[in-house]
Amino acid sequence: MSDAIKIRLQNADKTRSCGGSLAHTLYDPHVTILLNGELGAGKTTFLQGFAEALGVSGHITSPTFALEQRYNTKEYGELLHVDLYRLSPTQAATLIAQTDEHPGIRCIEWAERLAVLPHGPTIHIALRDAPEDSREVEMHFEDLAIPTHDDVLRWRQEVHLPENVAAHCNAVSDLCDTFASAFLERAQIVRPLALRRAAELHDLLRFIDFHPGSAHLNTHITHDDHAHWARVAAPFAGMSHEEACAAFLTQKGFPGLGDIVRPHGLKGTVPITVEQQLLFYADKRVMNDQVVSLQERFADFNTRYTRGEESVEARTWKEECIALEAQLFPEGPPR
Ligand code: ADP
Ligand code: MG
Repeated sequence: MSDAIKIRLQNADKTRSCGGSLAHTLYDPHVTILLNGELGAGKTTFLQGFAEALGVSGHITSPTFALEQRYNTKEYGELLHVDLYRLSPTQAATLIAQTDEHPGIRCIEWAERLAVLPHGPTIHIALRDAPEDSREVEMHFEDLAIPTHDDVLRWRQEVHLPENVAAHCNAVSDLCDTFASAFLERAQIVRPLALRRAAELHDLLRFIDFHPGSAHLNTHITHDDHAHWARVAAPFAGMSHEEACAAFLTQKGFPGLGDIVRPHGLKGTVPITVEQQLLFYADKRVMNDQVVSLQERFADFNTRYTRGEESVEARTWKEECIALEAQLFPEGPPR
């Protein structure tokens, strides 16, 4: 499965900022971005926003006469920008074959000139005119494999995921859907399906970090569960439940989904991509299976882990979450 989205771009500024938001959902440093759309559809404007967000200094222009242009990014090596507009299908194929080994991100304008699309991870972008001199962008993400809902249900059964943890994951997924819609509404790119699946799976191996006394009430765990969990957890010895889940998903052939899940905890790596940030934040807004405020959720952490006291660590985490909330939703989170 893969993500597909459609976004309305009211004006050129939106096209540019939408392009910028693509820089926050990259999971493969060698991705090829294919852009299609008539002359004047906004392809170059979109790429200008993208390049700027990648830290390219100076303005990028359409390489219609130069065929290709290269720019240095801050963290993704060299950004290659190719325009196939003036080329025959044969010339286009030759030029693209020459850039197949490009070590960074490759953007191809007028990709429809190609009879055969480049293989490897790709993001397809189509820009077109929309009413009132606006534009619309449609995107298909073929750079991140996503499991089906049936996979999720099967894996949950396989590991004996407790009901309450499954209910928590489902509630986080629903909240992630709301967040994804809010982002798309304001023309910021997000991958709703990948985000939803990552949320459904984020605590799949939560039992690895179960601590006596930290569970909520009425969680019934049997001796058999413990024995089963020990077997499931054995290959992930020494890992936190977040890292273990990422490793599990990588083993199953979904490394990108593992990347989204990995930084969802308070103690691990910092969430960077928009999906990592939204999952991390949504998880902090769901207590058991109820949506609550950050204040309520952190008060609950303190009750369960530090007998009601707020540790210095907990205060720092809370402040970081409040800052992230303001960054993701400057006008307040959607209800
Ligand atoms: P392309 O590279 O596809 O030929 P450009 O990026 O050069 O197109 O854009 C063509 C024109 O359309 C520019 O003047 C740009 O500012 C404008 N434009 C881009 N996006 C929008 C939009 N969403 N609404 C209105 N005008 C737009
Ligand atoms: Mg152009």
